[in-house]
Amino acid sequence: MTSISAPLRILMVEDSEDDACLLYSELSQTGAEIAYARVDTAEDMRAALNDADWNIVISDHTLPHFSSLEALQVLKECGKDIPFIIYSGDVSEHVEVAAMCSGAQDSIHKGNFARLLPAIERELLGAAMRRAKQQADGEVHKLAFYDTLTGLPNRNLFCDHVTRMLSIADCRTGALYFLDIDRFQRVNNCFGHKVGDALIRQIAQRLQKGVPDEGMVARLGSDQFAVFLGSACSDSQARDAAEHIRQAFVEPFVQGSREFFIGASIGIAMSSRDGEDVPELLINAETAMFRAKSRGGDTYQLYEREMGAVAGKQLMLENAMRGAAQRQELILEYQPSLSVVTGELEGVEALVRWRHPEFGVLQPDDFIPLANDSGLIREIGKWVLQVACRQAKAWHDAGHDRLTMAVNLSAVQFWQSGLVQVVADVLAETGMEPACLELEITESVLMRDAEATIATLHALKNMRVKISVDDFGTGYSSLSYLRRFPIDILKIDKSFTRDVTRDPETAAIVQAVGLLGRSLGLETVAEGVETADQLEFFHQQRYDRVQGFLFSPARSAAEITAMLEAPQGGLSPPLGGGVPDGAIGARVGRIPTSEFASGAV
Ligand code: C2E
Ligand code: MG
Ligand code: MG
Repeated sequence: MTSISAPLRILMVEDSEDDACLLYSELSQTGAEIAYARVDTAEDMRAALNDADWNIVISDHTLPHFSSLEALQVLKECGKDIPFIIYSGDVSEHVEVAAMCSGAQDSIHKGNFARLLPAIERELLGAAMRRAKQQADGEVHKLAFYDTLTGLPNRNLFCDHVTRMLSIADCRTGALYFLDIDRFQRVNNCFGHKVGDALIRQIAQRLQKGVPDEGMVARLGSDQFAVFLGSACSDSQARDAAEHIRQAFVEPFVQGSREFFIGASIGIAMSSRDGEDVPELLINAETAMFRAKSRGGDTYQLYEREMGAVAGKQLMLENAMRGAAQRQELILEYQPSLSVVTGELEGVEALVRWRHPEFGVLQPDDFIPLANDSGLIREIGKWVLQVACRQAKAWHDAGHDRLTMAVNLSAVQFWQSGLVQVVADVLAETGMEPACLELEITESVLMRDAEATIATLHALKNMRVKISVDDFGTGYSSLSYLRRFPIDILKIDKSFTRDVTRDPETAAIVQAVGLLGRSLGLETVAEGVETADQLEFFHQQRYDRVQGFLFSPARSAAEITAMLEAPQGGLSPPLGGGVPDGAIGARVGRIPTSEFASGAV
C-alpha cells in the first residue's frame, strides 16, 4: 500500500485475535501508521462507533454471535459514512450480493492482500471525496442562506422560514419588523469599514439575544435587519415588541476605546393585513421604516396603507428625473454671498430646482437624495456645473470679473469616477476662470478615504479651483483633520447661525471655528444669516462672508444680473439699529420686506 496517509484507524469486526493481528502487521508493512480495535458483537461495535472516529470497517462474515450483514446494519444505524469491506474466507456469492445491496463497498477473500490494499485506498479516497462534497454543499448552503458577517439568516432563509410559519394553520399572524440603523453610513465614512463591520456584528448579537426563541432575526444587507415575531398578533402587541427590540440599542456599543450611541428606525408590517406574502410584508415594513426615519430616526412606525403612495411617488420621481435636464425642467438659482467687511456682493451659490410638470417646483432636498441613491446625480451634477460656469463666465465678461461661483457636490458626486475630468472639461468648454469656481463638499467627504480624497482635492487645486467645506460643524469634526486637506473655505452650517445669538455654547463654537479658520488661513463664510443680530455677531467674530435670507434668497440669473448692475450691488437700504458700524452697515442691505416674506424664512 503506497498512498494511505497515516494514521489509518480501522475497526475490525473479527472473532479471531490472530487474524486481526495478521491483518494489522500486513497493513503496517506498507509503512502506514495503523490503529485498530477489534469487536465481535453488535453491542461492542455500537460502542466503538460511538466512542471514536474510524476510517474504515473491515468485517469477517461469520462470527459466533454476529455476522457481516448484521455489522453492516449496526454501521447504518449509527449514521456515519465509513467504508465497509467484507474480508472473509467463507462468504457465498449470494451473501456478497446481499451485502453490496445493503451498502458494503467490497468483499475480499481473507488473505488476498493484493486486492485488499487497493480496495482500502480506493474507499478511503471515495470517503474523502464524499466528505469534501458534503462540506462544499454545507458551505454553499451557508452562503445561500446565511449572512457571512454576522452568521444570521439572510433574506432568503428569512423569507422561506416566515413563509413556512405563516402557512401553518394556527400561526397565520405575526409582526414583521424592518430595521435600518440610523446614520450608519457616517460611522463607515468616519471610522472605516472595519469598525462598521464590528458594530454590525454586535448589533446582530444583541438583536438575537433580545428576540424570543420562536422569533427570527435576519440580516437583509448593509445596515438592515429583519425580525419576525409570530407571537405579536395585535397592533399593541407589535408596539410592545418594538419597544423590546429597541432595548438592544439603549446601551452604547463599545468598539476599541470608543463608545457609539446607535439608534435604529423600525418599520412594522402586520401579516394579517399588510401584505399577501413575505416579500410584500418586507416592502411595506421598509416603507414604514422610511417614515420612522423621516421623523428623526430611533423610533418605530406601523405600516399604513397611505404610505404605499409615498413610496410609489418616490419611484415615479426617480423615473421622471431621468432626462429632466434635457427636457429643460431643471433650473439654477443663485444666492448671493457678501463680504462682511465691504458689504459687496462677492459671489453666488448655484442651487438647483426641478420644475416638475406635475408636482411644481421641487427643492433640492426633495430630489437630490433620490438622485444620489439612483446615480442620476452624475447627469444632474454635470448639468449644474455647465450652466453655473457658463453663467459665471457671462457675468465675468460683463465686467464683474471677480464674482465667485459656488457649486455643491454631494459625496456621491465627489466619489464618482472621472469627477476631476468633468470639472476640467466644463472649465475648458465654458472658458470660466477656474479660480472663481468654489466647489462645496461636506465634511463626510473629508472623513472617508483620506489618501484618495487628498489626491482628488489636489488635482482640483492644480486647476486653481477653490474647495469649500459646506455645512461645516454638522459632521464628526475632528478639527485636526482640516490641516491635512488642501481646502480654502469653511462654510459654517446654518443650524449654528440660527442659534448663535440665543445659545452661548453655539456662540462659542462659532467663535472657535472663526479663529480656527483664520489660523489655518481659510476664508470663513456664515450661511443662513437671517437677522441683523446674527450679522453683527459674525462681523464681531471677523468672518469673511455672509449668506442668507437677510440679504437675499436664491434668485434667477436675471435678478442677480439686475443686482450686480444696480448701485451698491443691488442689496438695498442699509439695516437700521443693531448693524455694526463701518462698511458693513453702510453696504449690506436687505431685500424689500414684501420679497423677504416670500422667501420662506
Ligand atoms: P446648502 O449648500 O447648505 O445650501 C444652502 C441652503 O440653505 C439652500 O437651500 C438655501 O436656500 C438655504 N438658505 C439660504 N439662506 C438661508 C437662510 O437665511 N435661512 C434658511 N433657513 N435657509 C437658507 P436649498 O436651495 O433648499 O438647498 C438645500 C441643499 O441642497 C443645499 O444645501 C445643497 O446641499 C443641496 N443642493 C442644492 N443644489 C445642489 C446641486 O446643484 N447639487 C448638489 N449636489 N446639491 C445641491
Ligand atoms: Mg452649499
Ligand atoms: Mg450649507
